[in-house]
Amino acid sequence: MNTPSAPITQDVHTIPRKLPEGGKVNLVGLTREQLRDALIEAGTPEKQAKMRVGQIWQWVYHWGVRDFAQMTNLAKDYRALLDEKFDISVPEVVTRQVSMDGTRKYLLRIAGGHEVEVVYIPEENRGTLCISSQVGCTLTCSFCHTGTQKLVRNLTAGEIVGQVMVARDDLDEWPQQGAPKDETRLVSNVVLMGMGEPLYNFDNVRDAMKVVMDGEGISLSRRRITLSTSGIVPEIAKTAEEIGCLLAISFHATTDEVRDKLVPVNKKWNIETLLNTLRDYPRLSNSERITFEYVMLKDVNDSDADAKRLVKLIRGIPAKINLIPFNEWPGAPYQRSDWERIEAFADIIYKAGYASPIRTPRGEDIMAACGQLKSATERARKSKAQIASEAGL
Ligand code: SAH
Ligand code: SF4
Repeated sequence: MNTPSAPITQDVHTIPRKLPEGGKVNLVGLTREQLRDALIEAGTPEKQAKMRVGQIWQWVYHWGVRDFAQMTNLAKDYRALLDEKFDISVPEVVTRQVSMDGTRKYLLRIAGGHEVEVVYIPEENRGTLCISSQVGCTLTCSFCHTGTQKLVRNLTAGEIVGQVMVARDDLDEWPQQGAPKDETRLVSNVVLMGMGEPLYNFDNVRDAMKVVMDGEGISLSRRRITLSTSGIVPEIAKTAEEIGCLLAISFHATTDEVRDKLVPVNKKWNIETLLNTLRDYPRLSNSERITFEYVMLKDVNDSDADAKRLVKLIRGIPAKINLIPFNEWPGAPYQRSDWERIEAFADIIYKAGYASPIRTPRGEDIMAACGQLKSATERARKSKAQIASEAGL
């Protein structure tokens, strides 16, 4: 993994994915069609290709196998051929931190030496994995720590699926052959709420989610996947049609004046434009409710008038409003609203007929809460620098 970093660029759509010279093609993250093409190119007879895709798919995504030698229903020389041309690789775990409340945060290293964070949040009847779609983010939401970091690059579909696979590895969640079928899922839900704006990496996110949803593999239903976006309007209908997962919107303000400051992409697609697009989402995606995320910032967006405006704005959209107490990070220009204020705000929304859960911050002791990702990486770097300076380097 010691290849030099890719050049930093702000153009998220044109970063090429270069395979190492003479390197093997990673099968993880290829769609069924792409896998079929790759197998044919490697010499698989066309007539057999569909069947081989099915077999390999099950090994990789149902059983969690990483070694072609273990694919016992394939002929030995075919396994050898696969091994020569392909590999099955997932991001490398650099560190794993476990919070007092059971939340786990993984720092993963991907090609180019870049790092992304993934958070696993166990709850009573489910476990949610919060995954990243980009290294950094091009957007600059003023309350978000990731937003202070420049975009380094989009993650590939393989790196996005790989985050789910790494978590299943760590939780020992792949089924055992011959063991009775166990329906309890440790990773039962996936949320695209880590680093990055998923709709600025649409194709890779879509392909990755198709792999995660595929019934012969990891098999998470589209209703257990939530994509959170700051409001990239042109991609929202595509999300409904091509992914069909649940949608969460980083709404955070009830006037364009305030939203322009908090979520600057609002200057491009304002509240009215965004809401008009959202009205079609439930029908297009055949799903129930849209989640409106609303970060509670003291004296910025947390008044009774805001709560009343919010319910007025979203009238007619099947919705739930998720209130997120602001999670502070070093140098953040905001404070968390007082608890009584958050409750009063929630009450107004609830009385207007909307569910208004307050998101309990999880994993705060390991900086794993919403919007805090990046900090640990930075801190780790700082401490390395400190070590170097102490050593007189
Ligand atoms: N880029 C996407 C997904 C990642 S952010 C998006 O913006 O929706 C996931 C959620 O955490 C978003 O609602 C985001 O606004 C919120 N968030 C960001 N920073 C936060 C902070 N410091 N405290 C609380 N929530 C934050
Ligand atoms: Fe990017 Fe989302 Fe953070 Fe905004 S809130 S800077 S879109 S990661």
